Amino acid sequence: MGRSPRLFVVSGPAGVGKGTLVSLVRKRRPNLGLPVSATTRSPRIGEVNGVSYHFLTDQEFDDRVKRGEFLEWARVHTNRYGTLKSEVDACLARGQSVLLEIDMQGGISVRKAYPNAVLIFIEPPSWDVLVERLRGRGTESEESLAVRLQTAKRELGQAHTYDVRIVNDDLQEAVDELDRTLDTYERE
Ligand code: 5GP
Repeated sequence: MGRSPRLFVVSGPAGVGKGTLVSLVRKRRPNLGLPVSATTRSPRIGEVNGVSYHFLTDQEFDDRVKRGEFLEWARVHTNRYGTLKSEVDACLARGQSVLLEIDMQGGISVRKAYPNAVLIFIEPPSWDVLVERLRGRGTESEESLAVRLQTAKRELGQAHTYDVRIVNDDLQEAVDELDRTLDTYERE
């Protein structure tokens, strides 16, 4: 059976383990395109410019918005994040499926630009587990934690608008499910 490259969006609340899931699925699917997003947020310890994100100043971000370089961009928490069209189109042109790990506002914009996109929502097993994971990550101040939890509450309430929902309880099972989901849609 043939496969065709697809555009996938993975969203879910901060602390749900999207990053880990995506990096594990990437190991299984080395041909998956993972475009690097741009952001105005400051790098966390260990993050590398051009690898984790393209870290931009507000002015640089504005200039790129004006030049129409973003497929989508959104204000998430307190910063701006965006997907560069050039990166997505380059992957699709090479015949690679693309996976975007972006927030839900971004997911909705992507669906408008690419109606064929598949939107996947990653859910925590429970609210308490999410709070625990986010706290345990230790990367956020109390204020930033509060903002992320507020966003998380809103996102969980909109999860039904996505095509696929995966609960990240057992990590290995969630990776299997994500991997199978990509397979199913590529063969559709
Ligand atoms: P973080 O600051 O923890 O790296 O990311 C915060 C949020 O921004 C996450 O929910 C992530 O999915 C989202 N995000 C990352 N890149 C993009 C992007 O290019 N566009 C949009 N809309 N959201 C993004």
